[in-house]
Amino acid sequence: LKSLLKDPSLLAEKAYVGGKWVESETGTTFEVINPARGDVIANVADLSRAQVAQAIASAEATQKEWAKHTGKERAAILRRWFDLMIENTDDLATILTAEQGKPLAEAKGEIAYGAAFIEFFAEEAKRIYGETIPGHQRDKRITVIKQPIGVAASITPWNFPTAMITRKVAPALAAGCGFVARPSELTPLSALAMGVLAERAGIPAGLLNIVTTTNASETGKEFCENGTVRKLSFTGSTNVGRILLRQAADQVMKCSMELGGNAPFIVFDDADLDAAVEGAIMCKFRNNGQTCVCANRIYVQAGVYDAFAAKLKEAVGKLKVGDGLEAGTTLGPLINANAIKKVQTHVADATAKGGTVIMGGEPMQGPGNFLPPTIVTGATRDMIVATEETFGPFAPLFKFTDVDEVIELANDTIFGLAAYFYARDLSRVYKVAEALEYGIVGVNTGIISTEVAPFGGVKQSGLGREGSHHGIEDYLEMKYICMAV
Ligand code: ADP
Repeated sequence: LKSLLKDPSLLAEKAYVGGKWVESETGTTFEVINPARGDVIANVADLSRAQVAQAIASAEATQKEWAKHTGKERAAILRRWFDLMIENTDDLATILTAEQGKPLAEAKGEIAYGAAFIEFFAEEAKRIYGETIPGHQRDKRITVIKQPIGVAASITPWNFPTAMITRKVAPALAAGCGFVARPSELTPLSALAMGVLAERAGIPAGLLNIVTTTNASETGKEFCENGTVRKLSFTGSTNVGRILLRQAADQVMKCSMELGGNAPFIVFDDADLDAAVEGAIMCKFRNNGQTCVCANRIYVQAGVYDAFAAKLKEAVGKLKVGDGLEAGTTLGPLINANAIKKVQTHVADATAKGGTVIMGGEPMQGPGNFLPPTIVTGATRDMIVATEETFGPFAPLFKFTDVDEVIELANDTIFGLAAYFYARDLSRVYKVAEALEYGIVGVNTGIISTEVAPFGGVKQSGLGREGSHHGIEDYLEMKYICMAV
């Protein structure tokens, strides 16, 4: 992997604690595997819980000074970090693809998207406005100021090794917080490379720590039990989110949770079918179906069902499965063998319950975690895929007849992250957009992620919003000052 990089020093295998690059105190490391080939690409320091505690202490020690910087001063440093990420896009994308699998073009897209949070929140650092409120008595003056919450920590997954971290770190640092990031043990290299660039950008030593550990639950406990961490931001499964929320209760910590989804993607009779197919391809197959906003259930109105299925099949047939580092690849490998098993279980269950495979279905030979994109028609509500997130390249097509029916079907889930629909009738568009119980609704588009909008879910998909001017609030406390004059 080093030989593919213009700047090999971006491939860091030590953790970043207290402004130093450190080994594990016990000398242990863990392997990072390239999911396209199965080979080991790095051995990364596996920190102990005590070292995680040191990282928290460093963040605390540096945070107070950082908070005294003006917003403009913090903004300048963050902006340098953004510039360095953009300058090093090619190397960052190569590292990302090597450890995560997504095609290089998508990896470059993630670097641009991930870096955009740093740019956006650098700008927001200057606009952390308070409020004045007319006093409740003649001699009273009321002012509201916003202050950084202190030390924040994150736990993030492997599907967006860069962007899931920047959307938390950037608002935290912009607000004046210290930070400890624990990347997924499957994809620590992108996080460490960002740490190298953060150091070069002049982010004060100790303020941002990147702790690489295989023992996620011990790390989560340290974040929750330490007492110094005042804010935990997690992206991952609803199950782990529940565990962390329970643990966070003891210290009454603020939590942001970006949890699972089960996105419906609805195509109405009056939709532009070609646009709907294009949107479905982007929404279902981006990152090979491994995003929490990927379409999981595709509902198609009866009048256009067959036409949509045929067009989707034709478009999916043009996708090319392969190693993300090879030119022309549009679908990379899945992250690991468990991910393959989950998709296969969903497909087998769908066929056992009467679905028809019109494309894919059979596993692929050879090394790497590859699966072909699979489409099943005749999907029904009793199939596992109707209630569980597949997180892979499986598109089940459900048939429906009327609007109220599909709204009921779409909302019949514990999740509420993203939903999508294609329609042209204006009153229908309004009605459906308002009726969907989701934090994000894409209308006539399959791509909704941007740093300028609030991303987050309702129901058991999570708490809080990331991105946009709202995204910094999670890292701020309000203080109301009541003055008698
Ligand atoms: P995913 O299916 O996306 O991997 P997980 O919720 O299993 O979702 O993992 C998300 C992140 O949470 C990963 O970095 C993982 O290592 C971490 N994690 C898993 N279990 C725990 C736990 N009990 N406490 C804290 N973090 C955990």
